[in-house]
Amino acid sequence: MSIAILPDQSERLAEAVQSLQQQMQGQVISPSHPEYDEARRVWNGMIDKYPAMIARCAGVADVIAAVNFARERDFLVAVRGGGHNVAGHATCDGGLVIDLSGMKGIHVDPDKRVARAQAGVTWGELDRETQVFGLAAPGGVVSTTGIAGLTLGGGMGWLRRKHGLTIDSLLSVNLVTARGEYLTASENENAELFWGLRGGGGNFGVVTSFEYRLHPVGPMVTLVMPWYPVEDAKELLPKWRDFMKEAPEELSSSAYFWSIPATPDFPEEFHGKRVVILGGVYTGPLEDGERITRPLREMGRPLLDLSGPISWTAVQQGFDQFFPKGQRQYYFKSRYLANLDDETIQALIPQGTKPPAPSILIVIWHNGGAARRVDAEKTAFMGRDATYLFSVDAIWDDPHQTEEVLDYARAYLAEMEAYSTGGLYVNFPGLGEEGEQLVKDAYGAHYNRLVALKTRYDPTNLFRLNQNIKPAL
Ligand SMILES: Cc1cc2nc3c(=O)[nH]c(=O)nc-3n(C[C@H](O)[C@H](O)[C@H](O)COP(=O)(O)OP(=O)(O)OC[C@H]3O[C@@H](n4cnc5c(N)ncnc54)[C@H](O)[C@@H]3O)c2cc1C
Repeated sequence: MSIAILPDQSERLAEAVQSLQQQMQGQVISPSHPEYDEARRVWNGMIDKYPAMIARCAGVADVIAAVNFARERDFLVAVRGGGHNVAGHATCDGGLVIDLSGMKGIHVDPDKRVARAQAGVTWGELDRETQVFGLAAPGGVVSTTGIAGLTLGGGMGWLRRKHGLTIDSLLSVNLVTARGEYLTASENENAELFWGLRGGGGNFGVVTSFEYRLHPVGPMVTLVMPWYPVEDAKELLPKWRDFMKEAPEELSSSAYFWSIPATPDFPEEFHGKRVVILGGVYTGPLEDGERITRPLREMGRPLLDLSGPISWTAVQQGFDQFFPKGQRQYYFKSRYLANLDDETIQALIPQGTKPPAPSILIVIWHNGGAARRVDAEKTAFMGRDATYLFSVDAIWDDPHQTEEVLDYARAYLAEMEAYSTGGLYVNFPGLGEEGEQLVKDAYGAHYNRLVALKTRYDPTNLFRLNQNIKPAL
């Protein structure tokens, strides 16, 4: 049983804060602290939790102190990197948040094409440093997402077909275990742990830094982004599917159902109009980009076309404005699709066309390529064999609409179940409402091996606020 210290238990809380603060270089924030309200917030505006303490770690020694403190005093623990997890696992009520967001160290070795980054770094921050040398690690498509949570769940972005998942470029991690030990995990050291960390999420310890292999990218790449009327979806999606079957791996692409945002950046007559976007990024030679991506722009008559050369750092920030911190409600949930045959496309269209809130984004990720060539047994991640991932990225502003949106998202996902391989991507877990079943579905044949690893490294389930793999009793 973990202790939940309520704010009114002030004496006990004051003693605990003081005790942890004495062991830490970074600050311990409690409910009376002026920055508490800001510090407790995570990305998803739907999540409103009140931890007893937030330990803002300044380095590895602080992480060790916080982990030992939590274990010895039986505190509920949440671990926070970028705070993007939509289920809100990076915070908790009444427990201790181990907050790594201040750990921002990045070191790039351009000769070896390797970067080491601490666990509080975001993808935008890492891209900025690696791009000094024309290099990048495969990350996600929103620059404010933390490298930590994204990497530990697998990691999909615009480099996925050419260079695979984020974990396919992960060389090693340093982490603090539930016992407070500091370990390195790589192919050569604690190899089984390294297997589990590549997809198994935050179950096995607190990662303090990640070492990535880098790839030459940019500085300029080709963005393809035609926005077509949603009424044309039935003709467009088969063309996109067929084109991507033959497209070079330098092009990663997703098809989106979305609504044209009602902002001054877009023509007023189109505000709120539902569209299908055939989006992608080509990272091969810039002079080839226009030719290679042109077919995607000529599959119909786009209302808007934002395609063209763009810097890698700009393309990585392109979506940021639509995902602001703490202001919107988010529910992202996914299913791998067996394929994208005409029947699957027919099933996708009705709900994609008429969502209850205009900003609800439906994404069909086209995967495969380098990620598929990695042996399925090499990492804990599941889903390498599925060419498509269907994701309902529900975003809405009015909290009164929450029930309606969740009903819509769940019904849509249930309908698509018939076309799914059965698996899902752990980093798009919704609110994790299915509990253990969600994790079993996500890890499939790897689940038992992950349970064994969890039992070895975290037998008391200290790290349980995550897509939790329960240790064997
Ligand atoms: C707007 C948005 C865009 C996204 N885009 C993409 C995308 O393009 N591609 C993609 O693959 N995913 C994407 N995601 C999903 C993203 O990968 C997950 O939300 C991920 O959990 C975010 O990591 P974080 O560090 O920001 O989150 P946090 O909420 O800080 O962490 C998530 C979880 O990871 C664990 N964790 C975090 N840090 C550590 C650590 N140092 N050690 C151990 N465990 C830790 C904890 O269990 C924590 O609960 C997106 C999410 C959002 C909200």
